[in-house]
Amino acid sequence: MQSWLIPFSYLLAGIFFILAIRSLSSPYTAHRGNIIGMFGMLIAIITTICSPLVDKYLYILVAITCGGIIGIFFAFKVRIASLPQMIAVFNGLGGLAAVFISLSEIINGSHAYFDISIGLIIGALAFSGSMIAFAKLQELLPSGAFVFRYQQQINLFLLLTLITLCIIFLLTPQINLFYWLTAIAIILGFLLVLPIGGADMPVVISVLNSYTGWAAVGIGFSLNNILLIITGSLVGAGGAILSYIMVKAMNRSLTNVLLGGFGQKVNSTTSAEKNKKVNIGSAQDAAYIMENAHKVIIVPGYGMAVAQAQYVLQKMAEDLRTLYNVDVKFAIHPVAGRMPGHMNVLLAEANIPYEDVFALEDINHEFASADVAYVIGANDITNPLAKTDSSSPIYGMPILDVEKAKIVFFVKRSLASGYSGIENPLFFANNTIMLYGDAKQVTEEIVNTLEQNNL
Ligand code: NDP
Repeated sequence: MQSWLIPFSYLLAGIFFILAIRSLSSPYTAHRGNIIGMFGMLIAIITTICSPLVDKYLYILVAITCGGIIGIFFAFKVRIASLPQMIAVFNGLGGLAAVFISLSEIINGSHAYFDISIGLIIGALAFSGSMIAFAKLQELLPSGAFVFRYQQQINLFLLLTLITLCIIFLLTPQINLFYWLTAIAIILGFLLVLPIGGADMPVVISVLNSYTGWAAVGIGFSLNNILLIITGSLVGAGGAILSYIMVKAMNRSLTNVLLGGFGQKVNSTTSAEKNKKVNIGSAQDAAYIMENAHKVIIVPGYGMAVAQAQYVLQKMAEDLRTLYNVDVKFAIHPVAGRMPGHMNVLLAEANIPYEDVFALEDINHEFASADVAYVIGANDITNPLAKTDSSSPIYGMPILDVEKAKIVFFVKRSLASGYSGIENPLFFANNTIMLYGDAKQVTEEIVNTLEQNNL
């Protein structure tokens, strides 16, 4: 391949990636965005294989085949509710790749020590941090914050050691120091993510995603590879922006999230509250009330994703509309579920029209005129303590004003708290009716009743 053609093709691939991200910003164009992104990646792979620096074709073929098979397997197997874990693993592997490239560069005698060290340290942090994030989300480790004495002091000590070692390495490059750098960065990554728990894990994943991008930029400079610099910058900036959007939606600061300690179980229920009466209803009651309503607003949350209730929810909305002429809308909180856009993806998967799906700021004023708020597998995003209790960890987080509807149905299996570990006083409100059970089963029963009642 002509030498000018390589940077040109990489640039072209970079342009395709930018166009892909642009198209992914709207559900109407997201599919096209994926195809554009894949095309960009194809150009990148072909260009790399054709580069004069590459000669071990067999290794590349084996790696692409194994990676491709594993990727396709997991793409089919992983449920959408588990996407955050998958992203954590992808990040971790990206970080690990940066570590291996840095090591191989040093072993092969590269002199770009600064760029390589940056790539190595950030990559190692992203790798071990992502592994902890994965283990917490997959509940291999307790998902709450894990806090111990002198934690922040130990982290600070490790960080200072890392910086000192890095400076010594830059002044007197030795391979042993490089191994120490790798080990300390990996330990620091573990320790930095351990105290972060509960609701903050997706933010951490997004921050780690950003780290992986910047690690790729470091490696890109050391290898003089413009594609890595472009894509690393896109991932780094994208992760940083996403983290910002998430912390803003939770009304927190990034420092507050990264210092950890949030998400430990908080027992905010007073004994008076424990004795409070809860209204319990049946699917048949819910069907009767909704078929006689003018307006129903459906609020999906993480439990809907777990139960995979989006298809039956679509059926319920369709029946209410077509059989009973009810105005049905969907309200999406920016952090409903476990990552931004989680609910939108699931509803789109079930062919719920985009025009029926509204963001918090566009629908919150409508709860006051709604007859029913049907809250399915959601909890924290409706918790009014975020507005009233300044001591609550979710204080200040914007929430959906479901309590303003005439009747609020909560479809969930118990009175258990949500991801943040905080009790929801709405369960005890006079206009709330609890529909206990699995989100999918309860909604299926409602659909059956709606259809029978119409015969
Ligand atoms: P929550 O975690 O607050 O509540 C989900 C509820 O679903 C639980 O209380 C659970 O109750 C119920 N549930 C679980 N499985 C089922 C099932 N099979 N059927 C019926 N119900 C079920 O989720 P929300 O979506 O309301 O809030 C999201 C939380 O995640 C917030 O705390 C937010 O800050 C956090 N978060 C989200 C991010 C994002 O980007 N989306 C990013 C960072 C944090 P029960 O066990 O009784 O059934």
